Amino acid sequence: MTEYVVAPPPLPSLPVRGSAARFPLRRIYCIGRNYAEHAVEMGGDPDREPPFFFMKPPTAADPSGEFPYPAQSADVHHEIELAAALGAGGHDVAVEDALGLVWGYGVAIDMTLRDLQNVAKKAARPWETAKGFERSAPISELVSAAEIGHPDAGAITLSVNGETRQSGDLAQMIWKLPEIVATLSRHFELAPGDLILTGTPAGVGPVHRGDVLVGEVAGVGRLETRVT
Ligand code: MN
Repeated sequence: MTEYVVAPPPLPSLPVRGSAARFPLRRIYCIGRNYAEHAVEMGGDPDREPPFFFMKPPTAADPSGEFPYPAQSADVHHEIELAAALGAGGHDVAVEDALGLVWGYGVAIDMTLRDLQNVAKKAARPWETAKGFERSAPISELVSAAEIGHPDAGAITLSVNGETRQSGDLAQMIWKLPEIVATLSRHFELAPGDLILTGTPAGVGPVHRGDVLVGEVAGVGRLETRVT
């Protein structure tokens, strides 16, 4: 058995609907500006700029149902997203083989410190402090593709205190999940335990302490998170 010079950190993992077994987390990949109307609201032009990737650490995933408002920001935004969880990996995966890597799905919020992100964008600096901070990815329990199939259309919504803020359809994704997996796999060696947040529809906006966020993806699940 391997000995370590310090205690090994616990493996981050997510609950699975209807199972005592958990999904182990290896990496969290995110895609930016994958819905045209959101790209426009962020000041981009989806006809000229393709979507792009960034990452959150696996320790950012938080199924607790609570989101502590981070003290380092005064402009925290919600981004509701479909999460895809990989059960197999690969490099240079073909588009037609990509869904074969996907074990299941969940509902996630890509919490974003918009004020820090805007500073980073202007300075052409990386986004880690805006995107990869502690508990920056509230997420539902996962459900297997064996149970629900591979959703490629259906409502994706987020409400704040009962008021709908984001309302889109998975079919509006610029890069569909097979293209996302195939493109990611040309940059990174994908592996079981990887999670992919597939982008957010239009309507992102600020959250405040006391807000209750409810995200839903039709056929996948529901996520409720209270901002504390
Ligand atoms: Mn996002």
